[in-house]
Amino acid sequence: MDYILVAFMGLMVGGIMNALADSLPVQRQINTPSCRTCGAPRPLRAWLGVGGLLTRARSCPYCGTPRGLRAPVLEVVTIFGTLWIFVYQPSLDRFMSSLLVSAIFLLIAVIDLEHRLILHVVSLPAGAVIGLLGVLSPTPGPLRTLAGGAVGFVAVLGLFLLGEAFAKAVSRLRGRALEEVAFGFGDVNLAALIGLAVGWPGVVAALLVGMLAAGLFSLIYLITMLARKRYTAFVPIPYGPFLIFGALLVYF
Ligand SMILES: [Zn+2]
Repeated sequence: MDYILVAFMGLMVGGIMNALADSLPVQRQINTPSCRTCGAPRPLRAWLGVGGLLTRARSCPYCGTPRGLRAPVLEVVTIFGTLWIFVYQPSLDRFMSSLLVSAIFLLIAVIDLEHRLILHVVSLPAGAVIGLLGVLSPTPGPLRTLAGGAVGFVAVLGLFLLGEAFAKAVSRLRGRALEEVAFGFGDVNLAALIGLAVGWPGVVAALLVGMLAAGLFSLIYLITMLARKRYTAFVPIPYGPFLIFGALLVYF
């Protein structure tokens, strides 16, 4: 019985994450489930991605834009993720806070993958929630939580400024502007969130793992492209999901 309840909870979390990932990047506000293209409200049976899939309501009834598979896939991920946290975390307050933190990071990863954006409208409330959870819990506790957030922010801010300087130097050499920089300011905010979630000194490991994973992925991607003779310099990859991977690894 417990497991069914927890799985249902995971499904609801997935549904909410989908609605937020659809509305926040476009409308910058929270909305009931609506089409990402035209903003029309979804019919009730398509509020959940799996519901839409099962009732064949797979595209928007107003503009016809197909919904794609992100919604049902994300719901399956949150169902199993929530069950996993439930089994893994012994106490109710640890379960609730882990679920909340994971859901926030999952939302940021989805929006970053789809839009290459880490929105302030997500980062700021996320910082307040994650910071408060860390400050109130015995581990990491107030001091380590705030230190972690500060270290994450400053470390990636340094990389961000380095990247800006590098981009300026390259564009001067080439005589035109370099459009993509390695880290965006959204990543700086994300690093602060990661620091708040895992605290000091976990933030160091989390960011290192994230950057290593991103570097490894870039390397494999580069080799594949070289092998296919399709190499172009400075292909932008979203760092957010990799940083979040490192964060969740250290967090759990
Ligand atoms: Zn539509």
